[in-house]
Amino acid sequence: MSASSPQPGKIVIIGGGIAGLACAYRLQELFGSQPESSRPSVLLVESGNRLGGVIQTIREHECILECGPDSFITQKPAGVNLCHRLGITDRVVSTNEKFRRAFIAFRGKLHPVPEGFMMMAPGRWWPFVMSPLFSPIGKIRMAMDLFLPRRDNSGDESLADFVQRRLGQEALERIAQPLLGGVYTADPAKLSLRATMPRFLELEAKYGSVIKGLMSEQSENSVSRKESGARYGSFVSLDDGMQVLVDAIVAKLPSTAMRLNSAVLQVVPGSRGSEWDVVLESGERLSADVVVLATSAKVGAGLVSGADAALASELARVESASSAVINLMYNRDDIAHRLDGFGFVVPAVESSSLIACSFSSVKFAGRAPYGKVLLRAFIGGALNPHVCALDDDELLRLSRRDLRRYLGVSAEPIFTLVSRWPRSMPQYQVEHLDLVEKIASRLSSLPGLYVAGSAYRGVGIPDCIQSGEQAAESIYENITGSIKPVVY
Ligand SMILES: Cc1cc2nc3c(=O)[nH]c(=O)nc-3n(C[C@H](O)[C@H](O)[C@H](O)COP(=O)(O)OP(=O)(O)OC[C@H]3O[C@@H](n4cnc5c(N)ncnc54)[C@H](O)[C@@H]3O)c2cc1C
Repeated sequence: MSASSPQPGKIVIIGGGIAGLACAYRLQELFGSQPESSRPSVLLVESGNRLGGVIQTIREHECILECGPDSFITQKPAGVNLCHRLGITDRVVSTNEKFRRAFIAFRGKLHPVPEGFMMMAPGRWWPFVMSPLFSPIGKIRMAMDLFLPRRDNSGDESLADFVQRRLGQEALERIAQPLLGGVYTADPAKLSLRATMPRFLELEAKYGSVIKGLMSEQSENSVSRKESGARYGSFVSLDDGMQVLVDAIVAKLPSTAMRLNSAVLQVVPGSRGSEWDVVLESGERLSADVVVLATSAKVGAGLVSGADAALASELARVESASSAVINLMYNRDDIAHRLDGFGFVVPAVESSSLIACSFSSVKFAGRAPYGKVLLRAFIGGALNPHVCALDDDELLRLSRRDLRRYLGVSAEPIFTLVSRWPRSMPQYQVEHLDLVEKIASRLSSLPGLYVAGSAYRGVGIPDCIQSGEQAAESIYENITGSIKPVVY
């Protein structure tokens, strides 16, 4: 997103998460074939001492520990396509075929998400009717979705409003909030359905009913009939963890194109004939003809507050939630539960500290040594905002209390690792896409300024890759006048 700019010589990307890295790599692909003298210089500046942003994999105790994301979806092709271009397709691994299902915590016990259930509604009758997750009245209320009229206005709606309207309160509390809350760590009363799960609005518009739509789609797709919750068959990772993706990009970029420990303080109109000056915390000023803000929107707002107050105030409206990920390794024999799934989510009405827990060593092969189990507990999100203020001992105490409750594990973990992600998950609130349009429109009057990353049109890794690549392609188009989109 940005206006056309004059022939640039220097491009500065602020933020070395996957969006900033994907932007830098795409620029290299696009300009790489040009003679060196006519190539713009590209510099990525990162405040931290490592690249990858929330993607971080650590190897310890023979485990592959994911501190942030552990996988990405293949249905959005930008992730697998990037792996292909980087030459790491042979390192992409699928989820374990055997246990592609999730559990939901309900009154202290774990229940499988009924087969065929997709986020908020059943795609198959029998598993839904037999599920102890819902009361008979709750089930009747959900089935009323088949007969309720479609909404006649096409405006945005919160997840809570949509689910209450079509499927009832039980569907919201017991399944939609924890499953979608798990993905977006969000408050369902504020989460925009159009920006996060437009498919459900489309199902209502096309079939007049979410259930009818899901059933009709699943009858055409025999694989998704067996899965429940998320479509686990469509998720992949890398053999040595998500860090492989980050390292593969970094290995393709010249070391002079990336600077660590270089926090940007401000982006201000250029003072030495260039469009912008990027002012570092150290006091250094980098001249730039093009700047890509690949940080969170709030950080971006602070950076441009002196350059354009209107843009800063729109960016500042994209809220973010904090979370903590706690990796715990146990002896398999210490866990009573069969671990015959990929993990569980916990509804807010359970009043637990956990929002979810992944069975990492079940989900992907090779994540823990033989006889051991690796779990990943998630705490925080929009409904539990103070998580990052808790110390490691307290986060561990809360995780272990809930793991004892749901998995029957009271033994000491062999090993633990706590990772905090303050304000790292953007919250797409109702009308989010209108806000993104306003940001795009404001950027169109600021030559050479672009944004990329999770704050705008998708929080998943493929979305962030795509946003970085699109910023690179717009820059290329503005410089050369030609268009070269990645063909996904
Ligand atoms: C705990 C967690 C689990 C997740 N799990 C999944 C998953 O399994 N699958 C999936 O698809 N998605 C997942 N996501 C979402 C996805 O990982 C993120 O949306 C995505 O990685 C964000 O990438 P980004 O580049 O936009 O931002 P970030 O990764 O946040 O990168 C922004 C970078 O900007 C840097 N920065 C900030 N301020 C400055 C400054 N002033 N100067 C210079 N640099 C600065 C930061 O240090 C950071 O490196 C998860 C997210 C979280 C938080």
